[in-house]
Amino acid sequence: MGNLVAIVGRPNVGKSTLFNRLTKTRQAIVNDEAGTTRDRQYGKSEWLGQEFSVVDTGGWVVNSDDIFEGEIRKQVLLAVDEADVILFVVDVMNGVTDLDLQVAQILRRAKSPVILVANKTDNGDLQYNAPEFYSLGLGDPHCISSLSGSGTGDLLDVLVSKF
Ligand code: GDP
Ligand code: MG
Repeated sequence: MGNLVAIVGRPNVGKSTLFNRLTKTRQAIVNDEAGTTRDRQYGKSEWLGQEFSVVDTGGWVVNSDDIFEGEIRKQVLLAVDEADVILFVVDVMNGVTDLDLQVAQILRRAKSPVILVANKTDNGDLQYNAPEFYSLGLGDPHCISSLSGSGTGDLLDVLVSKF
């Protein structure tokens, strides 16, 4: 069995940007419009000599009346089922949303470890928004910027310690 890391979270938090950074590819389609990742994307990564696979989840149905009951719920349940470690991405620029709470509710019951990733922490001031994510009940938020790469080394240290 390999080490499989799933990246989950509501649309537009930067899952695909993080996937691309971890896998150093342009495989995942990044877009300002929610709903651009049509399918699950798999890639390979490595940190401190530890190899692992990464799956970017998507396939969001943005026009659904009940977006969570549809694709997001399905993708999160799939991730919980198959992943050895789950990266739950949230957005420090937007704070906690209803969808974040719904995803967290599923993830709190996951048997695999969940790492809470506070993405879009592009500068030092934004890290002061991170403590509100403790309300998700999933432990410490790990502040990163997937765009600049800041914080991703520390995140990877935590990640590989979970295998
Ligand atoms: P996904 O829907 O969760 O896969 O999100 P994407 O990776 O497609 O990113 C959605 C938007 O957020 C894009 O415009 C990204 O460039 C932007 N984004 C992703 N990561 C960061 C970040 O660390 N900082 C900022 N400022 N924007 C980001
Ligand atoms: Mg995406």
